[in-house]
Amino acid sequence: MKIVLYNTLTRQKEEFKSIEKNQVGLYTCGPTVYNYAHIGNLRTYVFEDVLRKTLEFNGYKVNHVENITDVGHLTDDADLGEDKIEIAAKKEKKDAWELSKFYTQAFRRDMKSLNIQEPHTWCRATDHIAEQIATIKKIETNGYTYQTSDGIYFDTSKMPDYGKFANLDIKNLRAGARVDMGEKKNPTDFALWKFSGEKKRQMEWDSPWGTGFPGWHIECSSMSTKYLGIPFDIHCGGIDHISVHHTNEIAQIWAADKKPMARFWIHGEFLVIDKNRMGKSEGNFITLQTLIDKGYNPLAYRYLILNTHYRQKLNFTWEALDAAQNALEKLYQSLIDLDSPATVSDNYYNDFLDVINDDLNTPKALALMWDLLKSECPLEMKTKTLFKFDEILGLNLEKEYQLTKSKLDNIPDKIKNLLTTRATARNQKNWGLSDKLRDQIDQAGYLVEDTADGQKLSIK
Ligand code: AMP
Ligand code: ZN
Repeated sequence: MKIVLYNTLTRQKEEFKSIEKNQVGLYTCGPTVYNYAHIGNLRTYVFEDVLRKTLEFNGYKVNHVENITDVGHLTDDADLGEDKIEIAAKKEKKDAWELSKFYTQAFRRDMKSLNIQEPHTWCRATDHIAEQIATIKKIETNGYTYQTSDGIYFDTSKMPDYGKFANLDIKNLRAGARVDMGEKKNPTDFALWKFSGEKKRQMEWDSPWGTGFPGWHIECSSMSTKYLGIPFDIHCGGIDHISVHHTNEIAQIWAADKKPMARFWIHGEFLVIDKNRMGKSEGNFITLQTLIDKGYNPLAYRYLILNTHYRQKLNFTWEALDAAQNALEKLYQSLIDLDSPATVSDNYYNDFLDVINDDLNTPKALALMWDLLKSECPLEMKTKTLFKFDEILGLNLEKEYQLTKSKLDNIPDKIKNLLTTRATARNQKNWGLSDKLRDQIDQAGYLVEDTADGQKLSIK
């Protein structure tokens, strides 16, 4: 089946073709673990999860690699700030290693709650210092670096195509360069290695240039290509990564190996709140745990994400989350009427593939799911087809179905007796007693509806 994806490299939708038959190398920029992930970050990971599952749905064997940034991500993208992990460790009076481990675990918990599949390989920046030094050495040997008093920098003026990926206006950037460029030669130059200098750091390593730590961009260039080769198939991240992080990753691999780094670059749009970007440093951030504490099912948030295309901004509101939670509950409720899964509907399966393979059109996929539920499709076919859709949607439909069925199959005798008594009461037109019994059934966690075929029981 043909899969079409929007490639930032060419600024158009392109048919995806893997480098090796039936296999895909996928790299997703992972979290910087100095704090909890916010729901904006998690939007990006859900989109990447849908991408991976779509590839698998189409029969590809995906090799998914994701990094953990536990060193080198500075507070200022222009390389003048400080290391986010070190600052957080100081503030929380914690060991930097412990701090990053703690937030890594928290991140993995969030992934689990949102049904985001773990990558095949997790790679921590601090476990790959030697690889990063080796890449910097190659870049140095090829003549793209210079040294300042605080580090080894990449000279972007040596690369005629630097910034092409992000459509950067280099001329104007240079003309409008800020005075606080430090010792950098060009505003777009960036650090490959930073010296510890006078500052007391918890995380530092020896290198051919002096004790210090690697820059954030070199980590992703070195680790992605170590595990996936050069070039590899797909590199993902949020749109904020286009202009600096991914531009610099591409520059580094070009300078080190004279090869393009990846074939497809795919970026997810932002989650915004009151029109502002949600950010860990912005102070406006909401975590998944906050949603859970307020009584939301984390998968209601996944539903909310799926309902907007990944290349559109998503404005977070509590009303929208309420609507998503209602939709999810309605969906779970509708599973009760279905029969044991049998065969998949070819028509719906093909329509689903058409929409999901068209640049991951999840809003249309959700609409198709509702359409299927309302359709005349046989009940056992509906069930199986829904479960198939859910391999990508990830809304726990099969689990919920089994749970509901087993609860209905194991109705306690007490409820059965209440139902029998209520049926008699209704026959005798004793509405007062009938209502009383309904309340008792309700309090025990079941809903009773009166239909033309008699009483119908469901789980609340
Ligand atoms: P970080 O942990 O800051 O390195 O970011 C992790 C991922 O979240 C990256 O892919 C970012 O591009 C992405 N990201 C950051 N802020 C947002 C946001 N408000 N909405 C969606 N994705 C975001
Ligand atoms: Zn990265």
